Amino acid sequence: MHTDARNLDNESLIAGDLCIVGAGAAGISLALQFIGAGQRVLLLEGGGFDYEPAMQELYRGEIVGLPYFPLQAARLHYFGGTTGHWAGFCSTLDPVDFVVRDWVPYSGWPILRADLEPYYRLALPILQLEADEWSADAWQRRDATLVPFALDPRVAWTKMWQFSPPARFGTLYRQPIVSAADVHLYTHATVVEIEANESASAVTGLRIRTLEGKEHRVRAARYVLACSTIQNARLLLASNRQASTGLGNGHDRVGRFFMEHLEMPSGNLVTLGAAPATQMYAFEFGRTKARGELALSADAQRDARMLNATVSLDPAPLTEAGKSTFEWATPDVVSHMRTDRVVPDTATATTKTPPRTFHLLTRQEQAPNPLSRVTLSSERDALGVPRARLDWRLTELDRRSFRIFYEVLGRELGRSGLGRAQMRDWVLESAPTAWPTSLGGGWHHMGTTRMSTDPKQGVVDPTCRVHGVANLYVAGAAVYPTAGCANPTLTIVALSLRLADHLKQRVVP
Ligand SMILES: Cc1cc2nc3c(=O)[nH]c(=O)nc-3n(C[C@H](O)[C@H](O)[C@H](O)COP(=O)(O)OP(=O)(O)OC[C@H]3O[C@@H](n4cnc5c(N)ncnc54)[C@H](O)[C@@H]3O)c2cc1C
Repeated sequence: MHTDARNLDNESLIAGDLCIVGAGAAGISLALQFIGAGQRVLLLEGGGFDYEPAMQELYRGEIVGLPYFPLQAARLHYFGGTTGHWAGFCSTLDPVDFVVRDWVPYSGWPILRADLEPYYRLALPILQLEADEWSADAWQRRDATLVPFALDPRVAWTKMWQFSPPARFGTLYRQPIVSAADVHLYTHATVVEIEANESASAVTGLRIRTLEGKEHRVRAARYVLACSTIQNARLLLASNRQASTGLGNGHDRVGRFFMEHLEMPSGNLVTLGAAPATQMYAFEFGRTKARGELALSADAQRDARMLNATVSLDPAPLTEAGKSTFEWATPDVVSHMRTDRVVPDTATATTKTPPRTFHLLTRQEQAPNPLSRVTLSSERDALGVPRARLDWRLTELDRRSFRIFYEVLGRELGRSGLGRAQMRDWVLESAPTAWPTSLGGGWHHMGTTRMSTDPKQGVVDPTCRVHGVANLYVAGAAVYPTAGCANPTLTIVALSLRLADHLKQRVVP
C-alpha cells in the first residue's frame, strides 16, 4: 500500500505494529522481510519517488573540522535513498574487524563475523550480487583467468570484491513494497521528532511534517530508525523533549565516532619479471562481476599496529604516469616498463600489451574517534529541525597506517619479485597529522550510534536496540563500532536482515 502523506487530512493518526523510518538500503531491506509476516508495517519515507531539490535541502548541514562533501550531496532523500547513486562496490567485513585490537582504541564489536555470515548470504540477491564466494581461490575456480598474485599469506592476500549492477532500490523494490498488503509506505512523511514517555524509556509516537505545512502522528509498538548515519544521530539528538540531551544519549555517545573510509590515491606499482596475470585486479564498470584488491593479513596488521586497508590496482599507462608519478623509478625499472611484452590475443587475432604500471588507490578504515562527531547546528531546516553539524576528525593512527601499509606491502611485492611499489610524497612525509588536499572519503557514513553491550560505551545493544529505550532500534551503518575497509552497503543489508529476524521473534509488548 502507498499513501502520499501530503494528501492526508492535517493531524492524521497513522498506526501500525512496526514502524520503519527511512526507505533506503537499510529500511527497504528490512521492510521486504515483513511482507506476508502478519504484522502491520509502516514504512515512512521523507521524500517521494523522485529527486526533489527541496527535500535535498533538508539534508544541508554545517561542516566543521576536516573538509567534507556537502551533506545535501552526500545522501539522497527519496524512496530508495542513496542507492539512487551508489556505485555498487561490495565486500564483506573481515574477521579482524570484529575483534578487540589493543592498538586500535575503541575497537571490537559485540558480535563476530560468523554471526553475520548467514545474513551476508541472504543479502546477495537483494543487492543482485553473483555468488556467495569471497575467496580469490573460489573465483579462480570459477574463472581461470583470475589468478591472484603469489604473495606470502602471512603478510598479504587478495581480498575479493563483487559488483552490484548497481541495484537501485527505488526502482527494484517500489512495486513489491507498494503492492504488499501488510506494508504501508508513506511518502513525503519526514519524521521531525521521536516522542517518548516521561522517563524517556520508551517511544510513544513520532511526529511527521510535510513541506506543505501538514503535521501527522504515528503510533506503533516498535520503531526502527533507518535514515542513514548522520540523519539517525540528528533525529535522536533533536528529540530532546523528554531527554534534554537527546533520546538514547544519557551517556553522551549519540553522534560520536563518525567514521568514513579514507579513499585516496596513495602510490604506484610497476610489475616486474615475467609479467604476472593482472586480470584478477582489473575492473570495468558495469561488466566486472568480481575482482581482487591487495590487503595485509591480520597478523601483519597486528605486528605493525596499523588499521585495516585494501588497495585497488588501476592501470596507468607510462605516457600518462611518466614524468610525474614514475620519475622515482630506477633505470632498470623504467627500461622494463618500456619493453612491455606484446601478447597475441587469439580471440581477436590482434596483439595486446598487459598493463605493467598501476596507480594504487587505498581504502583504509578510520580509527574510531569520539571527537569525530555529529551534533546539532543552531540553524533549523524548513521543517523546524536543527540541521546536522559534522565535525570529522582523524587521528595519528589513521595517518601513520597509510605509510606502514605501503612499507609492508612494498616489501612483500619486492620479496616475491612481483614488482615495485612507490608511495606518493604525502604518504612518505612524516608529519603525524598532516593530510594532503586530496584527503577524501568514500561517501560512506558510519558510527554515531555504535553497538556495544555497555550502555556507557555505545548507543545500541547487540540486537541494535537503543540502550534504555524499550522499543527503539537503529538500522544501518550508524551501528558500526569500527568501519573495516569494505564499503558498507552489503553489511548494512546483512544487519537489516539480522534485525528483521530479531523483530520477528520478539513478541510485541
Ligand atoms: C556517490 C556515492 C557512491 C557510493 N558508492 C557505494 C559503493 O560503491 N558501495 C557501497 O557499499 N556503498 C556506497 N555508497 C554508500 C551507500 O549509498 C550507503 O551505504 C547506503 O545507501 C546507506 O543506506 P541507508 O539505508 O543507511 O541510507 P540511505 O540509502 O541514504 O537511506 C536513508 C533513507 O531515509 C530517508 N530519510 C532520511 N531522513 C528521514 C526522516 N527524518 N524521515 C523519513 N525519512 C527519512 C531518506 O530519504 C532515505 O530514503 C555510496 C554513496 C554515495 C553517495
